[in-house]
Amino acid sequence: MKLKEAIEKYVEYFEQRNTSKAVNFWWIKEHPELLDLDIYEITDEIIKKIVDKYGEAAKLNFKKCVIFARDNYTCVYCKRSLVQYPNLELHLDHKLPKSRYGGDKLNNLVCSCGFCNRAKSVRTAEEFLEELKQVALSVVKAYRLEIP
Ligand SMILES: [Zn+2]
Repeated sequence: MKLKEAIEKYVEYFEQRNTSKAVNFWWIKEHPELLDLDIYEITDEIIKKIVDKYGEAAKLNFKKCVIFARDNYTCVYCKRSLVQYPNLELHLDHKLPKSRYGGDKLNNLVCSCGFCNRAKSVRTAEEFLEELKQVALSVVKAYRLEIP
């Protein structure tokens, strides 16, 4: 997906939730060369360049727009997606939490629903997925279902 489409999709997602606020990619007008990049070509260096020039206000929405598009507006943990659940609240989650020195780089960020993001808390992505697996297994066991 090109950045242009990712921004359009994010603006639509944002405006459906925040009717009082507007999301603004004002800086993109000065960087039309970025619009045709694939979202996988957006690097931490590109984001840093934009943030250095336009300030922190540009950062969060730029990252969300790229990560949500990359992860297809689907929670990486429970796999619920915006297509199935149009009111799904999506967050940026740090795979390795900030409190455990996880960075703000794109490769440490994933799309997570609000429920999983809050439940995961200070766990790493691996720890949380293992816990979800154990919960699922105990449910299966409780209902005496066989795992194929
Ligand atoms: Zn989730």
